[in-house]
Amino acid sequence: MNTDFETSCPLTLPDEAKSKSESSASKPRVAVFSLTGCEGCSLAILELEDELLEILGAVEIVNFREAMSERSWEIDIGFVDGAVSTPEDEAEIGRFREACTTLVGIGACACLGGINTLKNRQDEERYRRYVYGDRARWYDTQEAKPISAFVKVDYELHGCPMVKEEFLKLLKCLLAGRPFKLPDYPVCVECKMRGNPCLYEKGIVCLGPITRAGCNAICPSYGSKCEACRGIISDEALRVAGMNLRDRHGVSLENVLDDLRLYGAYQEEKLP
Ligand code: SF4
Ligand code: SF4
Ligand code: SF4
Repeated sequence: MNTDFETSCPLTLPDEAKSKSESSASKPRVAVFSLTGCEGCSLAILELEDELLEILGAVEIVNFREAMSERSWEIDIGFVDGAVSTPEDEAEIGRFREACTTLVGIGACACLGGINTLKNRQDEERYRRYVYGDRARWYDTQEAKPISAFVKVDYELHGCPMVKEEFLKLLKCLLAGRPFKLPDYPVCVECKMRGNPCLYEKGIVCLGPITRAGCNAICPSYGSKCEACRGIISDEALRVAGMNLRDRHGVSLENVLDDLRLYGAYQEEKLP
């Protein structure tokens, strides 16, 4: 499917960005930060092995805990993975926002709260004891939320982990000053394009009809249901898909919520 998102992003770094590589002083300064999460989204950046040298030619990485010990707080583009789940996280996200001209949330934890939000539905004393045992009182905690609950976020890259090719496309668009758009059609479109049999034929509830595409329907392609790690689609697309879920597949709202809560109960209010 040809979309604005795909046509607006060249497959190589734009010339404007390449020419900047001649002068380190003029390169955009990029940082990668982590809050509460597994840091798998930061790792996905390091896994861009074929493109990493080209990226390093176009930008200067100035702060990246997983990759370097130097720290700078003069930042043009900051990427953040992880949710705000502790008072420390809340202070940190404020500091990141102040330091970065453009702030990008990467992954389900940063964009939706992610699996961290599972604790929000549990008794606090119980989950603290489960995780920290008799040292539970040593560690502060709070309700887990996406970073957008605290600061303005300029772009979001969804997924658990984020799709690294999508990260590359966003970076290219930012460097070239071009618009960036996430796909606003459901995972089912990609699933059908891959010729997968639909899991509903086996009676399995799959959230593909209401979930934002961009992962190339990886889970249903391997026989697993989609659990909406990329978040749900925009209101109009969601209205149509939601009707389909109810009318064609007979799925109740409770069924949907059960699965949707895995990555972010904060999406509940968007459901039709
Ligand atoms: S979104 Fe997934 S991969 Fe990324 S930090 Fe959270 S748990 Fe890890
Ligand atoms: S398996 Fe899931 S994603 Fe694929 S077509 Fe069926 S509902 Fe959509
Ligand atoms: S199929 Fe669904 S759960 Fe799997 S990666 Fe894509 S959006 Fe996430």
